[in-house]
Amino acid sequence: MTRPAPSPILKPGDTVGVLGGGQLGRMLSLAAASLGLRTHILCPDEDCPASQQSTRFTKADYDDEAALKNFAGAVDVVTYEFENVPVRAVAVLKAAGATVRPGAMALEKAQDRLVEKEFVRSLGVATAEFHGVDNVADLEQGLRNVGRPAILKTRRLGYDGKGQTRLTDKDIDLHASFEKAVAFAWEEVGAAPSILEAFVPFEREISIIGARAANGDIRLYEPIENVHAHGILKTSTAPAQVTPETRAAAEQASVAILEALEYVGVVGVEFFVLPDGGIVVNEFAPRVHNSGHLTADACAVSQFEQHIRAVAGWPLGDPLRHSDAVMENLIGDEAGKWGEIIREPNACLHLYGKGEARPGRKMGHVTRLSTTT
Ligand code: AMP
Repeated sequence: MTRPAPSPILKPGDTVGVLGGGQLGRMLSLAAASLGLRTHILCPDEDCPASQQSTRFTKADYDDEAALKNFAGAVDVVTYEFENVPVRAVAVLKAAGATVRPGAMALEKAQDRLVEKEFVRSLGVATAEFHGVDNVADLEQGLRNVGRPAILKTRRLGYDGKGQTRLTDKDIDLHASFEKAVAFAWEEVGAAPSILEAFVPFEREISIIGARAANGDIRLYEPIENVHAHGILKTSTAPAQVTPETRAAAEQASVAILEALEYVGVVGVEFFVLPDGGIVVNEFAPRVHNSGHLTADACAVSQFEQHIRAVAGWPLGDPLRHSDAVMENLIGDEAGKWGEIIREPNACLHLYGKGEARPGRKMGHVTRLSTTT
């Protein structure tokens, strides 16, 4: 195993450049500020959640090469807070002399669900059965291969359940024929290159938030249990109700992913836990992860601080949890409950500074703490 070169190592006062300006960039900026580091956000949207908290802000598109070159010269390391950063942007930054952590390999694997699943399988880690789909004929063949129910997902740019559709026996009955149901599903994903996945009859969903330092050290937070509604994360709970064997398998898979990607930073790996305790990787996000938000209130070192430490070339912190915790996302109008939540004991409220509470938009979250069991 090659260990990456340990440079650069940032000093307090140095600047972490962040591509992306959402709530993850905001929370990274807050964590960097606590460590005496500055942040410089690059994002096309001026009034983004992160620009309200960062030291500097550049309004630019991710394909604006001149802006990227200036950005590379103005920061001491570059990281990103969303997985759809164009790989080309990373190449431009590197050519301009920037160190980008995590590197482009993590983006290349995570941006395409088919490449991601093939990569995870190549590590000897289980995924759902899958079939690449480029046309209706592929979809028909895929349904024969992976069986029903199945989920058709676009290979790229899907998130929070967007760009996905399910195919069950009931759908096929509703459409009166297999061919019509297939044509409808293909339309639902916009006839875009896709992947058909067998539906995994999971007992629960968990994630591992893992970190790898520039010197190759790895630290993992314990598994977190997640509940989704309409494809969007609703709650995350620690501790997760899993056996030591399931935990060990999820940890082993997470370490394999971090090492194979020569990763520097925090990754979120999502798993399905089967009724027999076995695990299947759903996907991984090369960034801090929504299910890890509870680490900010329940652990001495949050995932945000951990990521900043890693990309700054600093030693990782202890991921040990001091409280039990349930994180609830505040989606759309739910953020209107802030006035009640703020009165609750042991409730840690986080609002993202977003203007309009559109349906499905993550506006904030609350983490409720209790004594560790
Ligand atoms: P994704 O966009 O892949 O993260 O999917 C969002 C959510 O949909 C997951 O967290 C699961 O709850 C559900 N889901 C996605 N893929 C599958 C699958 N192959 N089998 C069962 N449930 C799935």
